[in-house]
Amino acid sequence: MTDIAAQLEQIRDRGLYRRLRMISGPQGPRVLLDGDPVLLLCSNNYLGLADHPRVREAAADAAMRWGVGAGASRLVSGNMTVHRRLEEQLAEFKGSGACVLFGSGYLANAGVISSLARAGEVVFSDELNHASIVDGCRLARAETFVYDHCDPDHLEWGLREAGGRGALIVTDGVFSMDGDIAPLEEIVELAQRYDARVMVDEAHSTGTMGPGGRGAVADAGLEDEVDVVVGTLGKSLGSYGAYACCDKRMAKYLVNTARTLIFSTALPPPAVAGAMAALELLVEQPGRVDKLARNAEAMRDALSAEGLDAGISETQILPVVVGDPHAAMDACERALRQGVFCQAIRPPTVPDGSSRLRITVMASHTPSELRWAAGVIARAVHEVAPQREQVPARPAAASSGVFDGYAEAA
Ligand SMILES: *Cc1c(COP(=O)(O)O)cnc(C)c1O
Repeated sequence: MTDIAAQLEQIRDRGLYRRLRMISGPQGPRVLLDGDPVLLLCSNNYLGLADHPRVREAAADAAMRWGVGAGASRLVSGNMTVHRRLEEQLAEFKGSGACVLFGSGYLANAGVISSLARAGEVVFSDELNHASIVDGCRLARAETFVYDHCDPDHLEWGLREAGGRGALIVTDGVFSMDGDIAPLEEIVELAQRYDARVMVDEAHSTGTMGPGGRGAVADAGLEDEVDVVVGTLGKSLGSYGAYACCDKRMAKYLVNTARTLIFSTALPPPAVAGAMAALELLVEQPGRVDKLARNAEAMRDALSAEGLDAGISETQILPVVVGDPHAAMDACERALRQGVFCQAIRPPTVPDGSSRLRITVMASHTPSELRWAAGVIARAVHEVAPQREQVPARPAAASSGVFDGYAEAA
């Protein structure tokens, strides 16, 4: 039996202890954190829609019209008109034939991957894919080949080695901890050559890039080439839940095989209606996406002026790698004392030796707030790592390059 106290002690010793902080009041560019006002720089509420009056009202109205809970799985009695309506609107937005809602992005990834990668097959996964993709690969009966980050040559080597068993290639569109963009054109080309399907997770690209915020797949013009586009309703769309956009036949297949959809209660109507209102705002006001991009540039420039390098990021996610987990936490607490909240991110969320402050900007920040915050963050980072240059290159994840790569990974 696990000795819980000893495990916790070990987690502490390694600098990986986590505790829950507390926000009072709604999400916004500034929040009350554990009682103190801070500038929020680690939220995925990129477009500032989580607390938008129209989104709140839509959720409140939905609670009055349809109640709070769906009461059952969608395949039993939980499927309601409001679910279908959001699916139609998301399919139209993403230019897909169909859309299937899931309980969350985590559940969508777990369900879709295990449906599409079956026993005797191989699923190919970027080494820096999100944990929910890792867990989807583990849940699937297929073997997993983990390819080097954004490396089509390594992916191709694996596809060749798999000798026709390759079923699915899965990648984040924008990588959640590094802010770089997957080489989707090359991935699609390899998938076609080796007869595999492609799934892209647009958790951080929907609402943030591509025409009108339609995402990384739309940005690359690959809507007809990618088999399943997964995204969450919990980030740019300000609510909770997730979707898989695909063609009609794939949608029927997922409804029949994705266990995380079949065996989990349908989304609450207020969450669905809130996301629908956020999607409408995004379509009506695409300027929010441009504002986010301008803020990301402003923050990148401000960090650079302070001597900090946001690595390979091309987006609103700007990692400042510190390296050691204790030092990253120390920098986080120092910035917090000056009123800037950007949570330190440590293993297993990121590879060993690459603990970081993961800065995310929102459309609702002002450029002067961002410039001020960059100065605070730079001072905090330089205080904890004065003699050392920022760690430039990211060490590779341990599991890359082997079949069944996630069997051992943390
Ligand atoms: C946040 C995230 C998810 C999970 O989505 P939830 O709706 O929060 O469960 C999946 N994939 C990526 C890349 C994410 O960043």
